[in-house]
Amino acid sequence: MFDALMVNKDEDTGKTHAEVTQIDLDRLPEGDVTVAVEYSTVNYKDGLCIGPGGGLVRKYPHIPGIDFAGTVEASDDDRYKPGDKVVLTGWRVGEAHWGGYAQKARVKADWLVPLPEGLDTRQAMAVGTAGFTAMLSVMALEDHGLVPGNGPVLVTGAAGGVGSVAVAILAALGHEVAGVTGRPDTADYLKSLGATQIVAREELNETVKRPLESETWAGCIDAVGGEMLARVLGQMKYGGSVAAVGLAGGAGLPATVIPFLLRGVNLLGIDSVMQPYDNRLRAWQRIGKDLPLSKLEDMVVPATLSDLPKLGADILNGQVRGRVVVDVN
Ligand code: NDP
Repeated sequence: MFDALMVNKDEDTGKTHAEVTQIDLDRLPEGDVTVAVEYSTVNYKDGLCIGPGGGLVRKYPHIPGIDFAGTVEASDDDRYKPGDKVVLTGWRVGEAHWGGYAQKARVKADWLVPLPEGLDTRQAMAVGTAGFTAMLSVMALEDHGLVPGNGPVLVTGAAGGVGSVAVAILAALGHEVAGVTGRPDTADYLKSLGATQIVAREELNETVKRPLESETWAGCIDAVGGEMLARVLGQMKYGGSVAAVGLAGGAGLPATVIPFLLRGVNLLGIDSVMQPYDNRLRAWQRIGKDLPLSKLEDMVVPATLSDLPKLGADILNGQVRGRVVVDVN
């Protein structure tokens, strides 16, 4: 038996309810590798899967947790043996497949990566899907020509998970970083991560009035989408790129094509879920090298399985700062 955060759905009312429950090992889904989970975390998608489902969860009862790190307990795959430390992000684990909010998980070997050098399992989950995605975004901006010295790089949703890690990585790489936040009380936190400029959310979440504004940002990592992304496109420097990561502010894009046509701006889509294995390894290696661990520690909010129903609601309300690390044991 092991502990897990189990979500049940009342078919009559359609309401979901999450609570910590004891589960028999036999109930784990099929997979090649059984992992003794040590840490998981709370991403925006987890908020949906702990709570209303957001169309992500296929069937109930469900164990959420879109990422985890732990130790292999049993393996039918040659790539992993008992005792190996592993990390999982993506592949719809925690949505379509039982996830990391449990002391045990069973998954496909293809979905795992070895724990990156220089990180322990707790640090790997302080990074988690949010931080991994932040690094994919940095890599995409670099692949499109961003180098330190090009000008300020904007990070939207800066005090959230993706945003916090993005600010810390960009600053450590020598970029000038501006963070957009709707929470003015997080300014000192963002500066401690390396932001040199704080932009108030209200300055950027108004509908586009002019398709082009002053050329301000050399790059942008956008966790917000919606009107903010549309505004930012019109403020990019010539040839600059925006990595579109999230939709915390909306899934729409009420923009014009003018920034693409007149300024050669690039809009780069970032997906962490189906990333090919080689690129996953490359991103995790870069995290081990380019994310200062002291800054990572400053982002951590510790939690246990029983804290998750509240934290799930908090992240949907934009109230989680930095990275929650869930000790499932
Ligand atoms: P968080 O909730 O930790 O961060 C989101 C941040 O966005 C909040 O902290 C807040 O920052 C800001 N925000 C929230 N609501 C609004 C709003 N209405 N308008 C403007 N800003 C808002 O979530 P994550 O960092 O885990 O995820 C961020 C986004 O990225 C989510 O949409 C998520 O689904 C997506 N994502 C996508 C991935 C991919 O593979 N493409 C992978 C991981 C995440 P502040 O208070 O500083 O303003």
